[in-house]
Amino acid sequence: MAETDTSTEATDSEPIDAGPDVEPGTVYLVGSGPGDPELLTVRAHRLLEESDVVLHDKLPGPKIIETLPEDRREDVGKRAGGERTPQSAINERLVELAREGKSVVRLKGGDSFVFGRGGEEAEYLAAHDVPFEVVPGVTSAIAAPAVAGVPVTHRDHASSVSFVTGHEDPTKAESAVDWGALAATGGTIVVLMGVGRLPDYTKALLETGMAPETPVALVERGTWPGQRVATGTLETIVEARDEADISPPAVTVIGDVAGTRESVVDFLQNDYGDASEDPR
Ligand code: SAH
Repeated sequence: MAETDTSTEATDSEPIDAGPDVEPGTVYLVGSGPGDPELLTVRAHRLLEESDVVLHDKLPGPKIIETLPEDRREDVGKRAGGERTPQSAINERLVELAREGKSVVRLKGGDSFVFGRGGEEAEYLAAHDVPFEVVPGVTSAIAAPAVAGVPVTHRDHASSVSFVTGHEDPTKAESAVDWGALAATGGTIVVLMGVGRLPDYTKALLETGMAPETPVALVERGTWPGQRVATGTLETIVEARDEADISPPAVTVIGDVAGTRESVVDFLQNDYGDASEDPR
């Protein structure tokens, strides 16, 4: 393990501001794409090489994280003991580093503004007079289905697509996701953070009248080594998930587009290794 650069470590006694003479550095809110380093944007790649410090969690994936120099990166995804670093602490750290004059990359999996809390970070930075730049990334919501052979729209099958969180309990009255309304659009539904609650929202969709034979695909660790896919229907996908032991991160694609995979998969050349490289 390389030596830690102590100048980037916060202590209680240190003032948060390096003083009026130091121009604040810029914070770059960078999306890393789904995990394959070749799917980083050219700009993201350059910023990862040139910035003073990179704050990241696990979602950019093992291949990208292993390229980050140990002395210039901070893992803010987990604290000792497995607890998540609260978003407020990440926000404060971004401001603190910028006020030291550093150029800071806040690296998020996929795109920072798609369930990545980038919006909150931008607001916090603006409220604290810290200049920032947004560097969009390839979101897993589109890329994970794509590399598994599933287009999220298709002229013959879906002319709209919705990206929703599966994190919520669909039975709770104040659920922010209206599954009935989504089912009624007839478009593709892509669920992020939706492995655990798959039984709940597939049930909610069936109850609102969505056809039980609606195709569903689960894409686990899209573009990571050991990417895996499980397919089924609204009625069978929970069993397929359990049989394949699909675990996060994975996206769920619900809709007729998921059924088109079968006609292309034999010729699909995207190759992300096998489970023997499983980094879990
Ligand atoms: N900002 C991210 C999403 C963050 S929410 C993006 O744009 O991709 C976290 C969820 O993203 C995970 O629970 C999973 O549903 C999805 N996810 C992220 N990376 C993934 C990957 N490589 N393969 C499959 N799903 C992924």
